[in-house]
Amino acid sequence: MEMYKDILVNTVYLIASFLFIFGIKMLSSPTKARKGNFYSAVGMFLAVVVTLLNEHILTYEYILIGIVIGSAIGSVLALKVEMTAMPQMVGLLNGFGGGASALVGLTEYFQILDPTVTRVEEFTIKMAITIALSIIIGGITFTGSLVAFGKLQGIVSGNVIKFPLQHPLNLLLLVGVFGLMVVGAIYPTDQTIFLVILGISLLLGILLVIPIGGADMPVAISLLNSYSGIAASATGFVIDNNMLIIAGALVGASGIILTNIMCKAMNRSLLNVVMGGWGQNAAAEASSGTKKEVIVKSIDSEEAAMIFSAASSVMVIPGYGMAVAQAQHAVKELMDVLNKKGCDVKFAIHPVAGRMPGHMNILLAESNVPYEKLYALEDINEEFTNTDISLIIGANDVVNPAARNNPASPIYGMPILNADHSKTVIIIKRSMAAGYAGIDNELFYNQNTLMYFGDAKEAINKLNNELKNLS
Ligand code: NDP
Repeated sequence: MEMYKDILVNTVYLIASFLFIFGIKMLSSPTKARKGNFYSAVGMFLAVVVTLLNEHILTYEYILIGIVIGSAIGSVLALKVEMTAMPQMVGLLNGFGGGASALVGLTEYFQILDPTVTRVEEFTIKMAITIALSIIIGGITFTGSLVAFGKLQGIVSGNVIKFPLQHPLNLLLLVGVFGLMVVGAIYPTDQTIFLVILGISLLLGILLVIPIGGADMPVAISLLNSYSGIAASATGFVIDNNMLIIAGALVGASGIILTNIMCKAMNRSLLNVVMGGWGQNAAAEASSGTKKEVIVKSIDSEEAAMIFSAASSVMVIPGYGMAVAQAQHAVKELMDVLNKKGCDVKFAIHPVAGRMPGHMNILLAESNVPYEKLYALEDINEEFTNTDISLIIGANDVVNPAARNNPASPIYGMPILNADHSKTVIIIKRSMAAGYAGIDNELFYNQNTLMYFGDAKEAINKLNNELKNLS
């Protein structure tokens, strides 16, 4: 009977794993992403149900209480959180995942040591090492993610926080904690070792994330997401659960792939982020804040409409401001109006535009902009020279030429969209304020740049009305 149950559980786990993998694969295409998400959710549902049928479960009451409380908090958060606050939400969830792995590792450890709890397993070296790994990676993920959450939420300073001998200290703690893991494997019943491992891991999470500046935070969040998966996988080995091992490995691997993609998009070194800002350009940190006293050319909706009515190609560059203003439907209407006038409209999407990976694609898909009109940076950057108008909507850092030509800038080296290469640049934003990286943008002062000040949604609605009046 027991054997059949094991076969059933593992078969369902296998089916769930296939659903996860198919689901993740489908997420890479905007048209199939929703279905992919659904398949993965079904996989997770099956995995949870079959795990609950397993008789290793000691009590259903606590699980039920946890599910009710967790689902209530999760549902309220999911309904309330703004799309623009999604990175901190993801950061927080990563942290909880890491914290849960560390707690499961610790609980298993104390259960094994407890003579009143009957356990069949021997306290093997494998157990000691996997428990230590769950605690280390889970602990680092927990506090690291809380700091990342604090930075994105504005509770902790988003600046690079540095102190003397920071990197040697981090390295020492890192080597020390893994050294203790080996000692813990030799003396597994020594509780102090495992508690010190926990303490150092929690401290390391803080120390590794505080030196990461706000501009690099997306990469840090994605890396912490990967860590939460690796921690879950290690915990899967601790409690001998294949599903947790596989699901954790998938999160760990996809997280590290995303981190690598984002590092490339922002021209950051992965090692630099892993080591908490190691080797960061010191000159870069003091670069922001220099205000130029240069006159910018500003236009109103009527003038903007005149310019657009003469254009035959428009490249829309959406950014964070479009998301805040919820201007995506107005933007789609603008596209339709321009298309009717025979003007070709394309969208150039920077990989870190907005506040989370894929942010702009999701919003534009929501307003039914055809997927084939959305172009990634590397596919569109050459086309700007042949474009009549680059229309920048609430974007700033992703078009800042300082990334190309100012080695002292914190965003130096990040590939940007070549909006400045087009014949005319029209920028919609409310003021001359800086973007996420907190730095001035010389594009605003260029000869071919026109500022159209206003809230993105209102400004585009006015422009649409003017354009309709012109026809
Ligand atoms: P930015 O943050 O550089 O700039 C956004 C601009 O939008 C601001 O300058 C602001 O100017 C304007 N804005 C704000 N509200 C409105 C509004 N209602 N209407 C019109 N404009 C508005 O955005 P980008 O998308 O160019 O760059 C993204 C930045 O965020 C990068 O630095 C990236 O590293 C970072 N980041 C990205 C993440 C990701 O995964 N995509 C995650 C976390 C951070 P004003 O106030 O004058 O209107």
